[in-house]
Amino acid sequence: MSDAIVIGGGMVGAAIAWGLLRQGLAVTVLDGSDEAQRAARANFGLVWVQSKGDGLPEYAHWTREGAALWPGFQDILAGETGISSGFSAPGGLHLCMSEEELQGRRDLRARMHNIDGPEAFDMQILDRAEVADLLPGIGPDVVGASLCAQDGHASPQGLLLALHRGILKQGGRILPCEEAVAIRRTAGVWEVQTARGRHAAPTLVLAAGTGNLALGRMVGMEIPVSGLKGQILVTERTGPRLALPTHKVRQTEAGTLLLGDSKEPEAGSDDRSSGAVIADIAARSLRMFPWLSEVNLVRAWGGIRTMTPDSFPVYEAREDLPGLFAANCHSGVTLAAVHALKLAPMIAAGALAPGIAPLSSRRFDVPTD
Ligand SMILES: Cc1cc2nc3c(=O)[nH]c(=O)nc-3n(C[C@H](O)[C@H](O)[C@H](O)COP(=O)(O)OP(=O)(O)OC[C@H]3O[C@@H](n4cnc5c(N)ncnc54)[C@H](O)[C@@H]3O)c2cc1C
Repeated sequence: MSDAIVIGGGMVGAAIAWGLLRQGLAVTVLDGSDEAQRAARANFGLVWVQSKGDGLPEYAHWTREGAALWPGFQDILAGETGISSGFSAPGGLHLCMSEEELQGRRDLRARMHNIDGPEAFDMQILDRAEVADLLPGIGPDVVGASLCAQDGHASPQGLLLALHRGILKQGGRILPCEEAVAIRRTAGVWEVQTARGRHAAPTLVLAAGTGNLALGRMVGMEIPVSGLKGQILVTERTGPRLALPTHKVRQTEAGTLLLGDSKEPEAGSDDRSSGAVIADIAARSLRMFPWLSEVNLVRAWGGIRTMTPDSFPVYEAREDLPGLFAANCHSGVTLAAVHALKLAPMIAAGALAPGIAPLSSRRFDVPTD
C-alpha cells in the first residue's frame, strides 16, 4: 500500500514520481524489465521551445513554463543526488537548408507571436551570415535559421539517473520487472496486479509511454498514443565545436556530437538502428556541418517516441475514475521540470489545473455529423 503508484519509470513517470515524493506522498514506481522499450534512454536531449504549441496555445505556455523551471529543477535535483542533468540554455537554432524552409520558420514565428506576443516567445530569424557568426563552419547549403533564446539541452542519461536516485533518496520505491497486467478499483483504492504481486494506492498515475494504450484500456479509458521510431548517431569526443544546440546536431557536455534524428512511422515496435537511416542522418548532418567528415561515428541507436494524433501531450483525469491520472508526451526531457514541479503537485492535490484542461484527450472527441 502506498499513497501513489506510478506505472512507468521512464522520463515522464520518474519526473512525476519524484515530484509526488516532494509533496510528501509515499510513492511506488512499477517499471518494465531491462528489455522494455524506453524512449527515455534513446533521446536527443533537447529542451526545445521554438516549435512547441503551434496550434495549441496551452501547450506553448506549458512548454515555456517548463523551460523556465529547468534551472531551478536541475539545482534541486543535483543538490539532492549529486548528479548533474547537464542542462544549459544557450538558445537553440533550427538550421534551414532552403528558402522555403526558412519562410516556414518566419510563418511559424508569426503564428507563435500571435499567441502571446514577441516578449513571451523570443524567436528571431537569422540569415546565413548571422548563423555563421554563431556557428562557424556551416555548410554552403545553410540559408539561415530560426534562433530561440529559450531553447537549451540536457543529458537524458544524467537526468533519468538523477530522477531515479532522487526517488530512492526521498524514500520512494522503484520496482523493475514489475509490469502491470491488470488494474481495478476496490473500496476507493486502485489495485495494480503484476506478475509478482499486487500493489494498492488511492492515487494511480499511468505514465508508461506507449504502454499507456494497454493500461488505459484496463480502466476503460482510450489514451490515443502510438509509437514513432527515431534513430540517433553519436561521434567520438571532440573539442568545443558547437556553442549552441541545433535541432539536428548538438554537442554534449562530454564533447561527443549527437546527430539526429529520424521519423519512421512504419517501423512499428522495431527499435533497431539501420544502415539506410544512419546514412541519411549522416549525409544531412554533413550538409549542415561539412567538418563532421573528420569526426568518427562511434555508435547509433534507435528508440520509439510516444506520439499522440496531433503530437501534443495528453494529461488525463476523469471524474468517473477518481484518483487516476495519465500522462503522455513526446518531449519528456523538455517537460521534465514542469512534470516534476507543476503536474505532480496537481496530482497530489487530486485534480489537474484548468490551465491544462485543453491538453486532455477530450480534444479529439469531435462530432462526426
Ligand atoms: C529518437 C528520440 C529522440 C527524442 N528526442 C527528444 C528530445 O530531444 N527532447 C525531448 O524532450 N524528448 C525527446 N524524446 C522523447 C522522450 O524521450 C520521451 O518524451 C520520453 O522518454 C517519454 O517518457 P515516458 O516516460 O512517457 O516513456 P518511456 O521513457 O518510454 O518510459 C516508459 C516506461 O514505462 C514502462 N512500462 C511500459 N509498460 C509498462 C507496464 N505495463 N507496467 C510497468 N511499466 C511499464 C517501460 O518499461 C518504460 O520504462 C525523444 C525520443 C526519441 C525516441
